[in-house]
Amino acid sequence: MTAPTIPTITLNNGLEMPQLGFGVFQVPDAETTAAVSAALDVGYRSIDTAAIYGNEAGVGRAIAESEVPRDELFVTSKLWIDSLDYDSAMRGYEASLERLGLEKLDLFLIHWPAPASDGYLEAWRALSRLASEGRVGAVGVSNFLPQHLERLADASDLVPAVNQVELHPALQNRGTVEANRRLGIATEAWSPLAQGAVLGEEPVLEIAERHGKTPAQVVLRWHLQQGRIVIPKSVTPARIAANLDVFDFALAESELTAIDGLERDGRTGPHPAEFNG
Ligand code: NDP
Repeated sequence: MTAPTIPTITLNNGLEMPQLGFGVFQVPDAETTAAVSAALDVGYRSIDTAAIYGNEAGVGRAIAESEVPRDELFVTSKLWIDSLDYDSAMRGYEASLERLGLEKLDLFLIHWPAPASDGYLEAWRALSRLASEGRVGAVGVSNFLPQHLERLADASDLVPAVNQVELHPALQNRGTVEANRRLGIATEAWSPLAQGAVLGEEPVLEIAERHGKTPAQVVLRWHLQQGRIVIPKSVTPARIAANLDVFDFALAESELTAIDGLERDGRTGPHPAEFNG
């Protein structure tokens, strides 16, 4: 397979973000370099990591070893819950850069609102400063519910570029997606494959067979056709390649609707209103 051209989403500050990227949650640091190198080799240009994943250094090694120019890459990391105050957020950004071996990130996110600490407004002030000084491509949030987005909007003129939330056929997070749309925030889906949970179910299987594609490719296509950013994770080279091979077919409206029918509040991760680390 020759590397496909990956479409981009224009973020609210004009930055172009690849619509399909590569996630490395739960990949041990020692295995991360091989996984990210495999992803870069087949054509991924966007990598999603986080301070808490403990594998920013592994991502950084793959980037350093790759021949892909830095300006063709889009690197995201996230600030952990223990750093939700102004100074810690500033230090957290520098620490991520240091571990990644990079001068600048393309996107830096507040990982969770962690409402009990009541620190995300302060952390946002720090991220806003990084953005206004041009020290980061864009800043955003992750796991923010509409009430957290509203509170941010009341306190700051800077609208997050991205809200990265759990989103897959079994949990479509429609209220948050609508709030993102209203505020001009791009929706990025984490666990886009529901960590495999929906891949053995109808109608995904039947649609996959009809198109001669795999269930994972069908689910990724379902996301892409609705304008979302996706970051599937795999450490399996054949799956890494297959998850990128989704630009040569399209689902019909009726197929998108059939997959919508899998909604069942099927959350795989914690609830953002309750998770405080
Ligand atoms: P995904 O929905 O991407 O699923 C990953 C799982 O599916 C792995 O077990 C993988 O197995 C398997 N898989 C991948 N491709 C295929 C395929 N083609 N066929 C069958 N199985 C497949 O889950 P993640 O939770 O990893 O989410 C993706 C990314 O989202 C993360 O890596 C991370 O970057 C981000 N994320 C962000 C969170 C946040 O709070 N902001 C929380 C969770 C994730 P294998 O690796 O063995 O091939």
